[in-house]
Amino acid sequence: MRADRDYYGTPMEKSVKKIVVVGAGTMGSGIALTAAQSGIHAVQVDLAQSQLEKARGYHTKQLGRLVEKQKISADDAKSVAARIVYSTDFSSARDADCVVEAASENPEVKKKLFKSFVETFDAETILATNTSSISITDIATVTGSRATHVIGMHFFNPVPVMKLVEVIRGLATSDETVARSLDLARAMGKTPVPANDRAGFVSNRVLMPLINEAFFAWMEGVARPEDIDQIMMLGCNFPMGPLRLADFIGLDVCHDIMMVLYRELGDAKFFPCPKLRQLMTAGRLGDKSGCGVFDYPAKA
Ligand code: NAD
Repeated sequence: MRADRDYYGTPMEKSVKKIVVVGAGTMGSGIALTAAQSGIHAVQVDLAQSQLEKARGYHTKQLGRLVEKQKISADDAKSVAARIVYSTDFSSARDADCVVEAASENPEVKKKLFKSFVETFDAETILATNTSSISITDIATVTGSRATHVIGMHFFNPVPVMKLVEVIRGLATSDETVARSLDLARAMGKTPVPANDRAGFVSNRVLMPLINEAFFAWMEGVARPEDIDQIMMLGCNFPMGPLRLADFIGLDVCHDIMMVLYRELGDAKFFPCPKLRQLMTAGRLGDKSGCGVFDYPAKA
């Protein structure tokens, strides 16, 4: 039986038909594409026109690859692309079922956005954040009575490939918001798993100290970066080494997540290693800037 049909083959009503994705970087562009591939209309929003163009280029490239590999037809690729619109403003999409915020990992940026979500979107719109580490309850403080509709939907990178969505309810999140968010995650082909509202939830609380320690090992000359990664891959069965993964996530994003963990949990082990901070200051942010711990000339 197809996932979008009932027992009799009748297309099922999707409870989410239109989403707004705020932030068109690594995560936002992946979330918008995955939604469109699942038949959901997506409005891709960013402050920067250049980021919207980059996201559009990424969508075109990904869909082209799927056509080349004969995973979808050229017509299907066109329909998916037609379901995404790009805008520097979300006020025209007030009737969206859900807004997923995927802007920078900064509490002030997110709170400012959530304040304007309340002013913009219909009362029933789910207000979801893709934050990696910031408290959902804290973000919801700026939404007043709409805190019932605020939830964490933590997608993973690359979104079209990774199956997990960590779902985090804040103190005031309603059962209905949780149910509708689980529906959305499943409609996008994902497996939602609940986690409680503590800084970093499960994934980043466990992952970030590992990444940070890999930077310390490199800084202290324990091994070369490529050897640190190879040791963790061959010895611990990791599919990707921690330093390569840090580049993939973005060194600025790792830094911001570690700072939230450090501030909220008060443990020095989360404070970003000087080596990581040095690379970030130099603009070596990982894949997205063409270099980080390693070089990516094709992406520069
Ligand atoms: P990114 O730096 O690639 O993209 C962030 C985008 O947000 C940029 O395009 C920026 O222009 C835009 N932006 C910033 N402020 C904005 C605003 N006020 N309105 C609209 N757009 C705005 O970051 P990313 O890696 O995509 O991360 C986005 C969020 O997802 C963060 O909260 C991050 O912690 C989380 N996250 C990241 C990963 C990862 O692997 N990179 C994984 C899971 C979750």
